[in-house]
Amino acid sequence: MDKGRAVEQAQGTTGEGAQAVRRALAAASRAAGALVIVDLAALRRNYRVVKAAARGAECAGVVKADAYGLGLRPVVGALLAEGCRSFFVATLAEARAVRETAPGAAIHVLNGLFPGAAADFLALRAIPVLGGVEEAVEWRRTAGDAPAALQIDTGMNRLGLNAAALAGCAAEPGLLSGLSLALVMSHLACADDPAHPGNRAQRDAFAALAARVPVAPLSLANSGGVFLGDGYHFDMVRSGIALYGGAPHPGVANPMEPVVQIWGRIAQFHQAAPGETVGYGAARRITRPTRIAILSVGYADGYCRALGSRDGHDGACAWFGGRRAPILGRVSMDLAAFDVTDIPERLTRRGGFAELLGPHTGVDELAACAGTISYEVLTNIGRRAERVYVNG
Ligand SMILES: *Cc1c(COP(=O)(O)O)cnc(C)c1O
Repeated sequence: MDKGRAVEQAQGTTGEGAQAVRRALAAASRAAGALVIVDLAALRRNYRVVKAAARGAECAGVVKADAYGLGLRPVVGALLAEGCRSFFVATLAEARAVRETAPGAAIHVLNGLFPGAAADFLALRAIPVLGGVEEAVEWRRTAGDAPAALQIDTGMNRLGLNAAALAGCAAEPGLLSGLSLALVMSHLACADDPAHPGNRAQRDAFAALAARVPVAPLSLANSGGVFLGDGYHFDMVRSGIALYGGAPHPGVANPMEPVVQIWGRIAQFHQAAPGETVGYGAARRITRPTRIAILSVGYADGYCRALGSRDGHDGACAWFGGRRAPILGRVSMDLAAFDVTDIPERLTRRGGFAELLGPHTGVDELAACAGTISYEVLTNIGRRAERVYVNG
């Protein structure tokens, strides 16, 4: 696609990011079907917003799952440039990838110490978030006084020592005091809902249980927790989704800037007559002479199958030069169809791009349309999708 056409396709995109989007569309390789645009400057501004809201608590970046699908290296690089020095991942393999980009950072591995893995942690200088007594025993035996984090369960019933397990530790004198604890943490189950009574209950349980373990910096809040207020910040907050533009509290005004856009290449057009159907399962019947744009993007690129339409159910839409086009039928693995009958042809040219996630449809809106959450929309973005980083 030539540059002029990219600019045309981006019409209707307004605001500061519009120029960067135009450049990104123009810079896409000729082979790109699905294009993911990641605004690293917006990511950095979001980090500052979270940091300000955390009011002096350290602000760690949660970059598990390839930085929620955005790409680990560029995201870690941008956060380092903002002064972020602590990162959280889920697995040791992810810690290895962070270590390559951040030689001096503290890297915490949330899923804990798998049996026999202590030497690998030590080689990487990674910090296991010990989630049970057996992990604590193994770490003390094999890693000596290398730093570890300890997870306390305050209601998730997922990872961490609960009140009973902590009481049991009293019977093993020196187990916890023999650890070199860099962090004591817990995780909120309902932080996305500020009105949920579980938040306060978990916070109080955390404060009470943390008093029973050796003194260490404390951390409770994820993105949602940061925006619950001062009582939730302790010494460190752990933010993921807010950095990437997702709403910390879906349903109320989102203080975060959008970071990710998804655009799909227009592969072909199709003219269909009333009574005909579109796509697998013949799920959507056409009721008027219809011009259909076929985008080279499907669920293998992270454009969820749940976004499709069927008779009696409208699905997602795409935006062509800022004009809305409803989806027609099911999303295929590699393709999706949109009704562009009402859109001027100059805005719908073969080879151009249409917006699927961006200024007109935000990540929480797209997630709601698919019956899921922003986290899953972002982490679903397929490896096939071409990523372009702007404002880096
Ligand atoms: C994923 C995760 C986070 C980050 O959560 P967000 O809601 O994305 O900010 C923080 N803490 C733990 C334990 C996590 O698993």
